[in-house]
Amino acid sequence: MIKKITLTLTLLFTFVLTAQSLKSPAEFLGYEIGTQFSRHADVVRYFEYVAQNSDWVTYQEYGKTNERRPLTYAVVTTPENLANLETIRTNQLKNVGIVSGDSTPDKAIVWLSYNVHGNEASSTEASMATLYELITTKKDWLKNTVVIIDPCVNPDGRDRYANWYNQVKATPHDKSQDAAEHHEPWPGGRPNHYLFDLNRDWAWATQIETQQRLKVYNKWMPHVHVDFHEQGINEPYYFAPAAEPFHEIITDWQSEFQNAIGKNNAKYFDEKGWLFFTKERFDLLYPSYGDTYPMYMGAIGMTFEQAGHGRAGLGINTDEGFELTLVDRVAHHKTTGLSTVEVASKNIDRLNTEYKKYFQNSDLKYKSYVLKGNPDKLAALAELLDKHEIKYGYADNGKASGFSYAKNDSGSMEYEHAMVVSTDQPKGKMVKVLFEPNAKLNTPITYDITAWSLPEAYGLETVATTSLVTANATNQTPVYNNVADSNSAGYITKWDSMKDAEFLADLLNNDIKVRFTEKPFKNAGVDYGRGSLIITKSDNRKLEGFDNTVIQIANKHNRKLATAASSFATSGPDFGSPDIKLINKQRVALLKGDQVSSLSYGATWFFFEQQLKYPVTSINTDYFDRINLDDYDVIIMPSGYYNGYLNNKLSDKIKSWVQSGGKLIAIGNAVSAFAGKDGFGLSKNEDASAKKDKDSTNVEEKLIPYASREEESVKDFITGSIFKTKVDSTNPMAFGYEDTYYSLKLGDDSFSLIDNGYNVAYIGETPENVSGFAGADAKAGLKNSLVFGEARLGSGSIIYMVDDPLFRSFWQNGKLFVVNSVFFVNNNKFRL
Ligand SMILES: [Zn+2]
Repeated sequence: MIKKITLTLTLLFTFVLTAQSLKSPAEFLGYEIGTQFSRHADVVRYFEYVAQNSDWVTYQEYGKTNERRPLTYAVVTTPENLANLETIRTNQLKNVGIVSGDSTPDKAIVWLSYNVHGNEASSTEASMATLYELITTKKDWLKNTVVIIDPCVNPDGRDRYANWYNQVKATPHDKSQDAAEHHEPWPGGRPNHYLFDLNRDWAWATQIETQQRLKVYNKWMPHVHVDFHEQGINEPYYFAPAAEPFHEIITDWQSEFQNAIGKNNAKYFDEKGWLFFTKERFDLLYPSYGDTYPMYMGAIGMTFEQAGHGRAGLGINTDEGFELTLVDRVAHHKTTGLSTVEVASKNIDRLNTEYKKYFQNSDLKYKSYVLKGNPDKLAALAELLDKHEIKYGYADNGKASGFSYAKNDSGSMEYEHAMVVSTDQPKGKMVKVLFEPNAKLNTPITYDITAWSLPEAYGLETVATTSLVTANATNQTPVYNNVADSNSAGYITKWDSMKDAEFLADLLNNDIKVRFTEKPFKNAGVDYGRGSLIITKSDNRKLEGFDNTVIQIANKHNRKLATAASSFATSGPDFGSPDIKLINKQRVALLKGDQVSSLSYGATWFFFEQQLKYPVTSINTDYFDRINLDDYDVIIMPSGYYNGYLNNKLSDKIKSWVQSGGKLIAIGNAVSAFAGKDGFGLSKNEDASAKKDKDSTNVEEKLIPYASREEESVKDFITGSIFKTKVDSTNPMAFGYEDTYYSLKLGDDSFSLIDNGYNVAYIGETPENVSGFAGADAKAGLKNSLVFGEARLGSGSIIYMVDDPLFRSFWQNGKLFVVNSVFFVNNNKFRL
């Protein structure tokens, strides 16, 4: 009975709704948009309500965040178009050759992405207002336009901000800049759960938000993509056209259309008397943004930036003396979103013809990138290309000639088996952007890193060819089905990739004892390099079902195990030798908190938890000085600002823990906190500081015209540039590497080589950057500087990683240095 009444009521309710008008966000939520911060669940409820009650909107979930919030998108267009949606979608893909068949598309597809940065919180509010406006007053535009709205790209970050703000805000809100509601606590709402900046993750797709969104993006391949952001409270509004540098792949048409949209936005802003700026600050180079990524996929990609950000709350007094309100911020974002849809709907023909042209890639200089090397690394690269639905193939037995990455010049490479990624495919321009040896840069003044070349990031030997390489071989990634042999002395496996590291972590998590060799050896005639893992029966004799467990874990990770009949080596050490060392199940602590870069902490946390799958204990800096350090074998200090934090008492405590056998790993800017500090074995490079002193006495330096100050300062810049480093591959920190490593250098800090310890990767007499921008002075300052090294202190070690190999989690080839540092370096104490 109750059920029946509910059903009748529901039917009645639906009828009333359709008969009357659709509720606005204010009517649905009970407050005017902009007078409160809406929780993500409420935003989802409004979109659901609209989709249920309007035949102009469909709404669906495309995934879940780490904290289990739904990721969603709405498709907004006429009921006729919605009925025909699959044809519209496939026509879009046929037009550019991603799906075979002919089509003459006559629709525009505009994708609006809101709130990728969680604390730039006006944009999700604007998404609701924009949705309502489109299906009430702007219906005409939808006849030929499909609008896709993602109301919140980063729900975990946005709720972190909105919930915090709702907790601390005054009633009524406090406009004073000093008020607590304008000072977000660490880490702030900008990043996602693992504290990744999702607006740096499009190309690397390391985060589940990105991975799931790309699947939908690839299904649609929109003509236009807008990424809504917020900037400082005193900068009014930024919209396209973008600033220099532009990547050379961007076409005149794309710039022209950015201009058209910018002018239309300007018309509305001028009418209302709202200030804005264009062509400054936000450039189009680094491929992992919400504007560049769509650009390189043929769309008109744009960033729109409203004043506000995590500081602004519901209202704040700006430096210019007026109140910036959330109501205004929403109105501005709504205006630019609608203006963009309008321009698209008025330019259907050109949008489609020019879009098609973008995907014709016959004129690119390099036709194929031929890559060979470690099968695990090739597989990791294949996994990345799959996320972007970029095609690749394999070739057997050949020689590729062209640009050799190893020589940084023309050269050739012979191969028995290689991966081939060609630009002769619809997404060929994106292939060029991701693989090219060096992105052309017309000004080094950019917002981000200037190098990201995948061959170096994945550590693969590569040649770029000017003629197409046929790829008709099959993938040779083997599948291993190891079989247990309880009569064997143990099992041996190689060590040279993150897949091996994940295998080791899984073994340790299962309480299996594992050894590694510090010297190469031969067993039953087979060679094993340094770092090879040895799992002996002897070490694990108390473990029931030992053989089966090892085999099961090896098969799960697809590792090839060799069965050793005897531990007797044909040459080199036997299993019982002191050179074949037991690996301790390290207890790892990881610092977080105010002094720590949230991005670096997040990347390290993510690395251990999601990639290596090995436990770390996160410890906040505000009570770190009170914990018992002896409960940990390894302490990791992510990049950060520890100078004021490491007082004498705390650094003495750390020092004595290291001296008694502890291992401290300092990453990125954490390294500088120890430089010059007594007893930590590290100093800043004399050369670099001497050079700067000299510069300051240089008269020319003092007479730089004001207008040239920016150009002049770039001499000291390194804006994410790839440097060739020398590696001591006999050091446990470098096991699995060869004698050259390409490092992504994020800044110009230069540290001298370590006296009491080991220099594992370093830059020699002649610094060589193979890709990206490095100012002349900064580059010279890197002469004989440390990249990765170990200082010995008593029986423990401090490991310095000047370049952060976990930066944004995309530099795949650097990650094994971290694992080696945790498990292999200074393996002096095994705890039972
Ligand atoms: Zn932003």
